[in-house]
Amino acid sequence: MQLHAPEGLPEITASSNLGTLITDHIDINSNDIVCVASTVVSKAEDRTCSLNDFPPGPRAIELTAQLAEETANDPDERFIQAVLEESVEILLESPFLLTETRFGHVGVNAGIDRSNVGHEELLLLPKHPSKSANRIAESLSTDQVIVTDTCGRPFRHGQRGVAIGWSGIEPSRDWRGETDRDGRELTATVENVIDELAAAANLLAGEGNNGTPVVVIRDFEWGPHAESSAHFREINDDLIRQAVRGWTYG
Ligand code: GDP
Ligand code: MN
Ligand code: MN
Repeated sequence: MQLHAPEGLPEITASSNLGTLITDHIDINSNDIVCVASTVVSKAEDRTCSLNDFPPGPRAIELTAQLAEETANDPDERFIQAVLEESVEILLESPFLLTETRFGHVGVNAGIDRSNVGHEELLLLPKHPSKSANRIAESLSTDQVIVTDTCGRPFRHGQRGVAIGWSGIEPSRDWRGETDRDGRELTATVENVIDELAAAANLLAGEGNNGTPVVVIRDFEWGPHAESSAHFREINDDLIRQAVRGWTYG
């Protein structure tokens, strides 16, 4: 398996056609998996907003005051309002906002970014990253596209790339029913391949001013395993989230 990050991609704007820009910079084969950082997908979909687009309502004002009181942070009420508008559920209110986005991804601040955009600006995640992946794929000679973001994880320090949207590819491969080296049957292992590919792509894309938001994965072999379409957990199948729902800070 090889990963390639084409250089020379321009600053992406709302008038950019990402699919065409990608094919202008790298040849895509039909088996390639093209990983695109959500930052540039958002820029191309005009998800850049000004803080002033989010006049804070009572809930945002209340949450901002709580965050200021309970943490060393001094959040902007307009930013908190944007997070609320992007979310369907707030899982944690403090010491930071952890929410579920409208498309099922759980992340800090609904994945809203303030890096690689101007100072009074916000970059919202794509509205529906899997639809974005599908749209990008229309201009490519492969169907396989993953939209990535850099996210923190519970229990571990640091952040890494995850898949927040995908098209032309199943998220996981299901090892259940296969055997280990001692002939014991695997009963639980469903390997989330799109997250693993997103993490690899993110490693090459970098986090700063590298200017390499696209990573093409070539010659990845899925192997003979059955695939599984599940990615984001449903609440009734998510014990950790159920526990977090009942938890309060301090
Ligand atoms: P995220 O992980 O999706 O939140 O995106 P990051 O902000 O970490 O950026 C990922 C990569 O894309 C980095 O290499 C950035 O330098 C690059 N990048 C971000 N915006 C642009 C852009 O408009 N044009 C180009 N060429 N690269 C960009
Ligand atoms: Mn991001
Ligand atoms: Mn990143």
